[in-house]
Amino acid sequence: MSARKHSREGTFPPAPEPLPVAVPDSHTHLDITLEDDGQGGPATVADAVSAASAAGVDRLVQVGCDVESSRWGVEVAAEHPAVVATVALHPNDAARLADLDGALREIERLAAHPRVRGIGETGLDYFRTGEDGRKAQHESFRAHIAIAKRYGKTLVIHDRDAHDDVLAVLDEEGAPDQVVMHCFSGDESFARECLDRGYLLSFAGTVTFGNAAHLRRAAAITPLDGLLVETDAPFLTPTPYRGRPNASYLVPLTVRALADVTGHDLDALCAAISANGDRAFGSWR
Ligand SMILES: [Zn+2]
Ligand SMILES: [Zn+2]
Repeated sequence: MSARKHSREGTFPPAPEPLPVAVPDSHTHLDITLEDDGQGGPATVADAVSAASAAGVDRLVQVGCDVESSRWGVEVAAEHPAVVATVALHPNDAARLADLDGALREIERLAAHPRVRGIGETGLDYFRTGEDGRKAQHESFRAHIAIAKRYGKTLVIHDRDAHDDVLAVLDEEGAPDQVVMHCFSGDESFARECLDRGYLLSFAGTVTFGNAAHLRRAAAITPLDGLLVETDAPFLTPTPYRGRPNASYLVPLTVRALADVTGHDLDALCAAISANGDRAFGSWR
């Protein structure tokens, strides 16, 4: 998600009961979350990290959406052992850039940094970008796939209303070794398509939403070694706080919902999510 600043209402929710085994938040936007600091949320990266850690969320993946946020994420990851970064041009931003090639060169330069563990979020978004932006989106997506493969980094996919085309482009280009479907938004059959290809499915607060039975069915068929969890903070705050600002310390709400849906024991689920996070994004420390 990106480019939806100032759409949250109200204050940050209270901290939930901590998780029994610490997990990573596989996808967060600290830069945007910190803009909401007047709402009782974290005021600094250190605050966000310590609030998350107290809730049993001991590692964060800071996700870049443009050159500026990608550069910022690399700096933060270099400074904070609990944070690693991904760098990319978001598909909706890619469609609007005057100099896509120049921006891609800068993303490629950042990709070499050892604290950069992923290339993303990239992919396709047919919800916010119309026909006129699709050519640039596809060109950018293919370029990001190539960068991920050149640098041996995990590809972090943003897919909104574009399931078939995302898979078609990945199949055609050849996917990198590790692919994460961020904020997984498909149904059971799309989940199977992704799992058959070895992709990890990262579930966000959307899995707790009342209208998301298809996501819960998708989660229920995902094996333990295919699951990740994320906030996409400050967006997509889980039930019962939907609409309020989100942050990594709220991950336990989504993990507990996933435990209910999948029937997995909470400790085993957390341990699997932790191991999958390390597999996708390397060791944090
Ligand atoms: Zn996204
Ligand atoms: Zn995002």
